[in-house]
Amino acid sequence: MNVYDSARMADVLAPLGYGPADHAEEADMVILNTCHIREKAAEKVFSELGRLRKIKTARAEAGQRMILAVAGCVAQAEGEEILRRAPFVDIVLGPQTYHRLPEMVAQAARAGGAVLDTEFPAEPKFDFLPEPLAQGSSAFLSVQEGCDKFCTFCVVPYTRGAEYSRPATAILAEAAKLAQGGVREITLLGQNVNGWHGDEGWGLGRLIRALAEVPGVERLRYTTSHPRDMDDELIRAHAELPQLMPFLHLPVQSGSDRILAAMNRGHDRDTYLRLVDRLKSVCPDLALSSDFIVGFPGESDADFEASMDLIRQVGFVQTYSFKYSPRPGTPAAAMDQQVPEPVKDERLAQVQALLMEQTTRFNHSCVGREMRVLLDRPGRHAGQLLGRSPYMQPVHVKAAAHLIGTVVNLRITKVHPNSLEAIPA
Ligand code: SF4
Repeated sequence: MNVYDSARMADVLAPLGYGPADHAEEADMVILNTCHIREKAAEKVFSELGRLRKIKTARAEAGQRMILAVAGCVAQAEGEEILRRAPFVDIVLGPQTYHRLPEMVAQAARAGGAVLDTEFPAEPKFDFLPEPLAQGSSAFLSVQEGCDKFCTFCVVPYTRGAEYSRPATAILAEAAKLAQGGVREITLLGQNVNGWHGDEGWGLGRLIRALAEVPGVERLRYTTSHPRDMDDELIRAHAELPQLMPFLHLPVQSGSDRILAAMNRGHDRDTYLRLVDRLKSVCPDLALSSDFIVGFPGESDADFEASMDLIRQVGFVQTYSFKYSPRPGTPAAAMDQQVPEPVKDERLAQVQALLMEQTTRFNHSCVGREMRVLLDRPGRHAGQLLGRSPYMQPVHVKAAAHLIGTVVNLRITKVHPNSLEAIPA
């Protein structure tokens, strides 16, 4: 989501003459686009601001201005605090107001004082953004933002606000524009992407069906989805649309019903497993990835074992696992029975070892298989191109450079530590 947001900020600033710089030292403006999900996010922002302050001062001494902005979820959550602790920051803006960046830049340049804009404005920012500039053969497309689910560990409902779905017409127009610019693969984005809903009762499955008909769009993905919002239409889309890639990120967070309830996830283990069965029955080559939090308050050895068991049972081919760490203001931060750090470390190591084993096994099972691979850049060696398999694995192959930006049939021949090797099929 932040990659998409950063690209859109670049789009709104381009008419003002701003373009990307390689180093902060050369930049007339630096925007830190922040994420509040990871541990100690705010402290990392302050430490980075300390580094940028020195550059800003050095530029000022050389008679060059540098506008310093903090954007994203840390800005949303800690706006006042940022201005108090780092008064050299010129602009603080939340994720819902980056379409107003040009005004803020003008204001900061004029007044010389700090500008704070962390509102949740009534007008959706998407209505005010310029058309995206397509770059490369894969692109993100934001269709939904915000979350009303209030998992007890998560800050998103507080920093990104209530769920908002962009209208289907705007999404289809953006997809057409991207495809005309050479994009072949679109990943639909949203904090609760499958909670997307449009006019006339459209859900994400219906939207994907319409997107699959946009000329030039060959591959579609969506992330991040919630088990509660996987409806029949979306499951049918996996069965019927070859453009929808057979790789689904479906976060579960824990395999223990007790912990899932304490997390307020709104689903239990059995519901999740039944959902996976339904998906795999209509799309047998579907592979799944997930998110796990280990060491959530009150997680016993038995709860943790239930997570390990779920990972084996579903056979996730990839997973993002994290140690629980409290986020100020969330209910879980105030829960008793916080799990000691060494226990969390041990559990994280176990989860990651299991997942590494499953990912490796899956990669080896791909050898000999024919796959459609989107070639999107030159490889490290001469005459080599790099692409992505339907399962997001990096694949390299000896092929002519003019094939960049096309989807080709390849046969997987070898597994490397971080990629697959292939030959034309
Ligand atoms: S559904 Fe996802 S974004 Fe929403 S509160 Fe839960 S973890 Fe956070």
